[in-house]
Amino acid sequence: MYTWQDLIEHYPLRYIDRSQFYKISELHPDLQNIQIKGKVVNVEELGGGRKSRLVARLRDETGLLELVWFKGIKYIKPLLKPGLEYVVFGKPSLFNNRFNLSHPEIVPVVEWNKRQRSGLEAVYPSTEKLRARYLDSKGLRKLIENLLLEVHGKVEETLPSYLLNDYKLMSREKAFLEVHRPNTHEIIRKAEARLKFDELFYIQMKILRSKVANKRKFKGFVFKEVGANFNTLYSDVLPFDLTGAQKQVLKDIRKDTASGYHMNRLVQGDVGSGKTLVALMSMLLAIDNGYQTCLMAPTEILAQQHQSSIQELLDPLGLEVGLLTGSVKTRDRKGIHEALETGELKILVGTHALLEDKVKFKNLALAVIDEQHRFGVAQRSKLWKKNTSPPHILVMTATPIPRTLAMTVYGDLDTSIIDELPPGRKPILTRHFRDNQRLSVLSFIKQQIDLGRQVYVVYPLIEESETMDYKDLMDGYESIVRYFPRPKYQLSIVHGRMKPADKDYEMQMFAEGKTQIMVATTVIEVGVNVPNASVMVIESAERFGLSQLHQLRGRVGRGGEQSYCILMTGQKLSKESKTRMETMVKTNDGFEISEVDMKLRGPGNIEGTQQSGLMEMKIANIVQDSKIVSFARTKALEILEVDPDLTDPENQIIYQNIQKSMGGKINWGRIS
Ligand code: ADP
Ligand code: MG
Repeated sequence: MYTWQDLIEHYPLRYIDRSQFYKISELHPDLQNIQIKGKVVNVEELGGGRKSRLVARLRDETGLLELVWFKGIKYIKPLLKPGLEYVVFGKPSLFNNRFNLSHPEIVPVVEWNKRQRSGLEAVYPSTEKLRARYLDSKGLRKLIENLLLEVHGKVEETLPSYLLNDYKLMSREKAFLEVHRPNTHEIIRKAEARLKFDELFYIQMKILRSKVANKRKFKGFVFKEVGANFNTLYSDVLPFDLTGAQKQVLKDIRKDTASGYHMNRLVQGDVGSGKTLVALMSMLLAIDNGYQTCLMAPTEILAQQHQSSIQELLDPLGLEVGLLTGSVKTRDRKGIHEALETGELKILVGTHALLEDKVKFKNLALAVIDEQHRFGVAQRSKLWKKNTSPPHILVMTATPIPRTLAMTVYGDLDTSIIDELPPGRKPILTRHFRDNQRLSVLSFIKQQIDLGRQVYVVYPLIEESETMDYKDLMDGYESIVRYFPRPKYQLSIVHGRMKPADKDYEMQMFAEGKTQIMVATTVIEVGVNVPNASVMVIESAERFGLSQLHQLRGRVGRGGEQSYCILMTGQKLSKESKTRMETMVKTNDGFEISEVDMKLRGPGNIEGTQQSGLMEMKIANIVQDSKIVSFARTKALEILEVDPDLTDPENQIIYQNIQKSMGGKINWGRIS
């Protein structure tokens, strides 16, 4: 904390009601800090040396409670007088079937009665270091109370008066007073709402301002017509019709790319919803209008798969699809570079190898980024520079994130959602098994293989325990080989320690149906498409996060057959792991899963959000305050639509606040 603002924005964690007392018989382990009134019956020092502790027993008319201190014994002991009544304050925990408070605050009732209190009191977050400097909750409260006196009448308003009036928001100064010097829960809520709105409104303002600015700054390439390649693929090549959702997203994209504006669009769609096809159709739009286009994927395997599946669809049109990855040989690479520069090669698929400066396009007008959460902002910004004016950007993600989170993390992108799977897909059945049920799982797998299906068995690979994880993988592989003897059964194995060429070979064997079982680490997590694979077994499933489990499950259910996902876990599971398994069993809906994930782990831990920095909020919380997030975004949009430069006198206050928080500079160049 450097400024008074930092201190005044050090908000309470919660409030305690100093007029409320609990009875000892009412205690339960889920309670936070509570107050109890009672008589100290005895005090003793137990143990010795470093293990010594001070234990006092407190009695009220309903029972007995232990107060325990491990530190500061010599200061506390003289304060505790058997027979005297005290008010104690702390968090109850259960130990040996009895409740205790460790390191409680204690005040003799006589003194407690002398203090004047309104009832509610703010409790502040603190740290070991702060506590060592007497800045525990109480110390911080004193500092903040002094500060409130000091700044009285001087706290500047940050919201325009029309917003305050329209929504009956209290002034900023009053809101600070009410959260730090609480009166009633109702007023606290109003004060918090004002401060949360303030925080979220400015986040949205900044995001949307740069979005509006980019829209005006960059001219977009115009895809005037829907041409021959697009139409032929659609009517002659595709064996199926597009889903309604795919058509809608294509409409969004066509509108963007015909508008003369620069497109910056995110397509969110669950695994298997057909995003790649939407990407391909958009790429054909670019080509039909005389431009080049590229698709970037996060892994080599994915890039290859995209290249070959797209090539297959474009063969009838006589279009060639280039592939550029780290393992493409220098000579081939040179050929690709040349063909790109002359404009002869119109479609390039690759990994981030295509970001290299050496890769120059004649006229790149659309770049598609698959599984965008795997790429950083810096990488994306390189794509922007691949032409004199930035190419249209289409990013795709199969990791759905909750709507309000998307408004923040992807707030500067326009979003489209594919919320419909192609027809005829059977929902994947998911079951949870414990290790001791392994035999029945194995026999189920055998049954499926004998029906002609293929199976994935996936092991976790967490970097910190890499060696152990490889051992698990190899042991697992051995035992599967024993159960599925060659030559009747053939196995593939893929893991990160293998050479890329070997990996690809194994993947290829599996994709061609020459092996029935693929034993792998999570390298197959994203994008891999083998429609005949109908069983996904996830080992040590409790070690995976929800979004990863969902991604893995998405590797099956891609053909017409009933598919299964089997979650194998140990016997004992934490509460959170149990929730994860239950959620997977219950639903196939990626958005629903992401909501649960966000509630379990908090918005800052959702994949793809860490680097955004936008999650560091002082008072608002994206999960709990989702309504305020939407509201703040709507308001910010409304204002910018009418007054994009914030020149209206009424909006000066907004303009100045944005300037201030950006250190006087407007960051026009922010790239999404
Ligand atoms: P995603 O990238 O969203 O996970 P893909 O684009 O890989 O999904 O599509 C998954 C599978 O569904 C592919 O085999 C694709 O050919 C097929 N597919 C895509 N769109 C349709 C559709 N409208 N009808 C039938 N099958 C489709
Ligand atoms: Mg995909």
